[in-house]
Amino acid sequence: MPGESPRVRFAPSPTGYFHVGSARTALFNWLVARKSGGVFVLRIEDTDAERNREEWVDGIVAAMHWLSMDPDEGPFRQSDRIDRYHQAIDALWDGGFLFACDCSRDEVDARNKAAGIATPGYDGFCRNRDLSRGDDRALRFRTPDAGVTTVFDVIRGQVEFPCSAMDDFVAVKATGTPLFVLANVVDDIDMRISHVIRGEDLLPTTPKGILVWEALASIGWVTDGSTGAAFEPTPTLPVFAHLPMLVNEQRKKLSKRRDPVAVESYRDQGFLPEAFVNYLALLGWGPPNGEEIFNIDQLVEWFSLEDVNHSPAFFDVVKLTHLNGEYIRAMSVDAFIDACGPWLTGGSAPWPGAAFDAEVFRRLAPLVKERVAVLGEVPGMVDFMFLDEPPVDDEAWAKAITRDDAAESILVSAIAAYGALAGTDWTSDALHAATLAVGEGVGRKLGKAQAPIRVAITGRRVGPPLFEALEVMGPEKVLARLGSALERIRIDALSGNSGDAAPAENS
Ligand code: GLU
Repeated sequence: MPGESPRVRFAPSPTGYFHVGSARTALFNWLVARKSGGVFVLRIEDTDAERNREEWVDGIVAAMHWLSMDPDEGPFRQSDRIDRYHQAIDALWDGGFLFACDCSRDEVDARNKAAGIATPGYDGFCRNRDLSRGDDRALRFRTPDAGVTTVFDVIRGQVEFPCSAMDDFVAVKATGTPLFVLANVVDDIDMRISHVIRGEDLLPTTPKGILVWEALASIGWVTDGSTGAAFEPTPTLPVFAHLPMLVNEQRKKLSKRRDPVAVESYRDQGFLPEAFVNYLALLGWGPPNGEEIFNIDQLVEWFSLEDVNHSPAFFDVVKLTHLNGEYIRAMSVDAFIDACGPWLTGGSAPWPGAAFDAEVFRRLAPLVKERVAVLGEVPGMVDFMFLDEPPVDDEAWAKAITRDDAAESILVSAIAAYGALAGTDWTSDALHAATLAVGEGVGRKLGKAQAPIRVAITGRRVGPPLFEALEVMGPEKVLARLGSALERIRIDALSGNSGDAAPAENS
């Protein structure tokens, strides 16, 4: 519709978790609308009652909201528009575009086999039988015998489908349920969709949709005014853009079973919506300037459907995670603390609610922010501060303490050295210097000397910088933890426990 602003739609079928491929489709539609003052419509294609579930609809709406891609219109639901599809079916029937068919799949297969036709497909048996519409009869669309149907696709150019290779496809099931192509096209006409942007898996159905669209236009079909507009003649065909499929590292199509494809799970792991949108935009597109990190305003400015390429796009979780880490590091400390909220004070936090100390977290936050790639890692970085006892990782204990014969004397000297700093100079610098000296005493460099201390205090071998963490924790708790660790080492030694399998108690 030249001259008008685009009207685009995202039309998911609610049959599962919100797939990253669907999120990419939604984003590219949303971008086209935002770029040009257009309208972004959400349409839930829920005619398949057996496969659709209400919770999946809620999941789609919530995930789109999380990604700041709320629709301008909708959600419209196909299940509310069944009468409308029947009006279109009647009109197509009256126009001679449909014929009734009572063949079962087995009958068609048997005839094809008898005729030596290897490829499955409808053989046109009922085309000229003039069956009336009735129970147990599907309605098929009579496709042209010759010629080609051309899909003009912004991404793929002209794609031609010879009509001779196209079956008389079922438009309405024997049960009376309208099938995908019909409902999809009736909606796109009524919603005056100017650009159909969707996954390339739907490209093979597009010529069928075009035939239905043209059939409706030829019989003077008018829109139903469902989007508030006046009743209008069927618009000209929309512009098509079929987006490249997403593949995993084996270059196989992403699968719901094999690959981590649920957008909800990324939200729950603590990916930032801005980073997620940034990454989705790179799946099949990239700005001409080659930048890989951009904010939403830049994305809207730079995006162009014409620049989307058609080769499969690798959905690379490692790259996404890396990008998310970059976004976290670029946050202000305050924004980071706010974003961490649900992980720190929600029911999933690994410490009792009352144990969390916002001030302690505020002091650690700048250190933690530099070391996590997703927000879900944050509790594991700071839990030793809020739990009564460190959450001892057995492997860390075995490696840094049991298998280091200097561990015991390092802890003994650290208790003495740190004890001398308590109440006088309990700062990260002083703790650092004291630990250096402890290491020298046993012929160890700082890194080696630190390891048993870190495990004794935090239970882990990795975490925020040790001396800053010790400063924040304070002498009392630090000395108590070193003491407990020492006690455990001695008990283990007495009982002959190698420490490789941790005892039930760790202090
Ligand atoms: N409902 C279809 C699907 O989820 C998409 C239809 C379309 O975008 O045209 O695969």
